[in-house]
Amino acid sequence: MIMQFRNIVGQSGSVILLQRALSNGNFPKLTILAGYHGTGKSTTALLSAMSILCENPSQGEPCLGCGSCKQLQNAISKDIPTCNFMRVNMAEKNSRSDFGELVKEIFVLQPSAKKCVYVLEEMHAVKDEYLQTMLLERIDAMPPNVHIIMTTTELNKLITPLRSRARVFRFTRINQNESEALLTQWCANNYVRIPKEVSSLIIKSAGGVPRELINLAEFVSENSVTQEELINYLNLIDIDEIIELFTAFTEAQMTSSIIAADKMLKAHEKSTVVQQIKSFILEVIYLMEGNITGDFTKEQAAIVKEVFRNTALVQLASVGEKLNAYSSENDIKFAFLKMRQIMRNKSIKDIVRDDRKAATLQRKEANSVFKDKKAVAQAVSNATASLDKETFLESMNMFGGDN
Ligand SMILES: [Zn+2]
Repeated sequence: MIMQFRNIVGQSGSVILLQRALSNGNFPKLTILAGYHGTGKSTTALLSAMSILCENPSQGEPCLGCGSCKQLQNAISKDIPTCNFMRVNMAEKNSRSDFGELVKEIFVLQPSAKKCVYVLEEMHAVKDEYLQTMLLERIDAMPPNVHIIMTTTELNKLITPLRSRARVFRFTRINQNESEALLTQWCANNYVRIPKEVSSLIIKSAGGVPRELINLAEFVSENSVTQEELINYLNLIDIDEIIELFTAFTEAQMTSSIIAADKMLKAHEKSTVVQQIKSFILEVIYLMEGNITGDFTKEQAAIVKEVFRNTALVQLASVGEKLNAYSSENDIKFAFLKMRQIMRNKSIKDIVRDDRKAATLQRKEANSVFKDKKAVAQAVSNATASLDKETFLESMNMFGGDN
């Protein structure tokens, strides 16, 4: 576990203010840490508890050396309460009787003026609004030595009065730079070296969730996972395969597009295809408009520049944008069809128009062939009808006949 606020990556808006409140000694009585799972809410809650109870905190950071810090570190690692700290997963304590006991523990049996911290995690699991209201009433009458820190991934499931009574801090996914910083920091702390191409796969796959990023980094370094193995493990699509697909889109024959799309959809999850196609299009735009190579190798960048030379990138992006995790296989195929038309510099209307044009052309050809045949047959029959035997034989001779 991270033991210092300064080691938390991202979330700077929330963490700086929490740390300042701790440093100023006016940490809120009721705090809600809300946001996406794995973004550091629990870590921040536990660090805050440690700092509140620490005997020698410095600028909001717990000292880690005093009796209280040591006791708390031990309690956290063994998942046991102390006389002034308790961590409860509300998903396990959401029946009325459990809840009653908890409330009694926190609000009725508070022994002295000694500081106490209760960390209530997964607060949204308390679906019974009656229980939330009951808790709120107790909080209003809470002694000044008690602090409650709640964490939740679903803030909207908490009743409005509870939310408005609390100081809410939001935890978001971290961005690309923060992800890189976190991974670099983790590698340095663990004396691990991860090759750049593998790091970028880890970052991409973690999607801005620090916990997932660290889990994957641990797995990769413990098992010496190679780039290729990681691609297979994550069921990712090789970037060359995506380039191949878009290259096929530029070809006049539709067959190669269909084959490439089918191959991709058979080998990978639909959601993976959607996610990777979208990030690929973004990377293409960055490369074409900003000359940012990103994850492309030199060779790939050269091919991409050539393939997308005449493409209306904004149009392409708007087709990609409409795909999401729930897109069906047909949705994806339709999107590919539209992308193909855009890459071949045609509007969607042109698909229909082209089809019509081709059909009309075929019809015309068929008609003219039919007419020609009819004309020949007519001419022959006219000719034979008007000719008597003698003239007929004569004309045959004209064409080199023997008789
Ligand atoms: Zn301490």
